[in-house]
Amino acid sequence: MKNQIDKPRTALVTGGASGIGLASVAALAQQGVRVAMNHLEDDSQGPEQIEKLRAQGLDVISAPGNVSIPGNAEAMVERAIADLGGLDYLVNNAGIAGTRDPIPASELDRIDEELWMALLNTNLIGVFRCSKAAATALRDSGGAIVNTASTAGMGLQGSSTPYAASKSGVVSVTRSLARGLAPDVRVNAVAPGQVATPWTKDWPQERKEAALNKMLIKRHVQAEDVAQTIVYLLTGAPMITGQTIVIDGGMTVS
Ligand code: NAD
Repeated sequence: MKNQIDKPRTALVTGGASGIGLASVAALAQQGVRVAMNHLEDDSQGPEQIEKLRAQGLDVISAPGNVSIPGNAEAMVERAIADLGGLDYLVNNAGIAGTRDPIPASELDRIDEELWMALLNTNLIGVFRCSKAAATALRDSGGAIVNTASTAGMGLQGSSTPYAASKSGVVSVTRSLARGLAPDVRVNAVAPGQVATPWTKDWPQERKEAALNKMLIKRHVQAEDVAQTIVYLLTGAPMITGQTIVIDGGMTVS
């Protein structure tokens, strides 16, 4: 970190109003980091969660914007950097499944252009848009990026073929950004398995139990488990870059 000791560290977390993003906002802010929480402009969860965190004495501000829209994403990042007065950490976490029920790989007819474009635009290109817009500020601070991939990007099927491809893309973009922003900025990713967040809340019990049965550590992964690793990769880990850390209780090695 090139930052002055007396200057508070700053972070931007995309998709920060719920689940893994919200846990990351809270974990960073609890470490004294000033955090800009990105949320969709019409998502009331954003202002509500910010109010709750601020009531706990945490320094969290709002960064409304949509990472899937070219121009809108970059403007959101630029505004956040201006509001924060610089940027030390970027967490590219916003993501969508695009389908409530998983689409088996064999059901090609259920996958259309619209689903492909939505998933690539949000989950993959969104990561690059925000990173590109933040690159100068992160280089100035000697900062770090963490992207949220998925075990679906590490060889598992995930909720659909385009979802898995978007998350494999995140693993690849993580390596490319690590090369491209070195030596000033470290870039890593986390690849969660099934995590107990609003994303999985309404999934059938059998689907949750199937994951648990495959896991070596017999409890569901919590958003806080993932946030802890995100914070470690951002604030510690000075010699780790270009890597994707799987957080799945051993599911993919069982
Ligand atoms: P979540 O639905 O609680 O969080 C996703 C957040 O992203 C939401 O707040 C949503 O409003 C926001 N978002 C969606 N599209 C956006 C956009 N275009 N611009 C800005 N914000 C947007 O779910 P979560 O489980 O916390 O998911 C966070 C990340 O973790 C996602 O990238 C997801 O793919 C990944 N992930 C989740 C799981 C899981 O089991 N929950 C597993 C692997 C990976």
